[in-house]
Amino acid sequence: MTDVHSKEVRSYNMSRIRNKNTKPEQVVRKYLHKKGFRYLKNYTKLPGCPDIVLKKYRTCIFINGCFWHKHEGCKYFGWPKSNTEFWYKKIEENVERDRLNYQQLKDLGWKVILVWECELRNGLLETTLERVENIIRENCGNVNSKL
Ligand SMILES: [Zn+2]
Repeated sequence: MTDVHSKEVRSYNMSRIRNKNTKPEQVVRKYLHKKGFRYLKNYTKLPGCPDIVLKKYRTCIFINGCFWHKHEGCKYFGWPKSNTEFWYKKIEENVERDRLNYQQLKDLGWKVILVWECELRNGLLETTLERVENIIRENCGNVNSKL
């Protein structure tokens, strides 16, 4: 990795690390907590290490950055002008990995909720959080266990 990509790889890795506790995730967690939901975070035992896992509701929530996860049609996603090939490969790999993870989770009987970072911006935040809450609750048909 001493080639021209090293700088991009480094900044890529750094942003991955930063992403471990990004603010958008905290916003969603805080809201759910306030609403009385209990969850696990960055749950490595499930495919894709979901950002939020609500075991009681058998629901996983992913908060996806619009760039890294290729939010198509979103104004926050665009292909970088330089090192196009590198970024194309990187992003498409992410997309493919996401797709497989979501499929595996669904096969295991989990509900998957995707939240894009742009949906957590001012003006959309409240609607998004309510949507997430509604989807979680839709799922609670046979739940008797305590939190
Ligand atoms: Zn977006």
